Amino acid sequence: MNHLKQLIREIPDFPKPGITFYDITTLLKDKQGFRRTVDALQEHYRNASVDVVVGIEARGYFFAPAMAHALNAGFVPVRKPKKLPWEVKSVDYQLEYGTDQLEIHSDAVEPGQKVLIIDDVLATGGTASAVARLVELLGGTVAGLGFVIELSFLHGRDKLASYDVFSLLQY
Ligand code: AMP
Repeated sequence: MNHLKQLIREIPDFPKPGITFYDITTLLKDKQGFRRTVDALQEHYRNASVDVVVGIEARGYFFAPAMAHALNAGFVPVRKPKKLPWEVKSVDYQLEYGTDQLEIHSDAVEPGQKVLIIDDVLATGGTASAVARLVELLGGTVAGLGFVIELSFLHGRDKLASYDVFSLLQY
């Protein structure tokens, strides 16, 4: 998998001093890199009987629909507040300063469906654990949480200890 790391652009001090931003646009535009990323992620869930793949706005959308297609599952977007046009369920989650909110259509997941949650980067795990709560609010079962990149030094996995957490590349 380490050849994929060479396709990820590391940008120091973005969006603020001290943060290294992992820019996956350089991976997405590489035809082999994009295919290998989706292939390797979906391989982990091949026998998981996933019904729905949930993508987290915004960069989760780059991978989740391709995963849904590969796994013969549906795709559901989780969005920032006030973007979804129908009835929603919301969760609040903690940011470094203050809180934020994420929403899902209240009929997006049927009770008992097996749901795979996909995002580009697992950092502190706050976003992913909020999305897992949303899925469970609707009665879905979290079949796993998958990430292209895991920032292991932030221990986001600890917030997701009750779930199957899988990442392709660790930093
Ligand atoms: P967290 O809730 O801390 O796990 O943050 C995860 C979300 O923030 C993901 O949706 C990522 O897209 C984004 N993110 C956090 N840290 C980084 C980083 N260093 N580089 C790129 N994206 C990041």
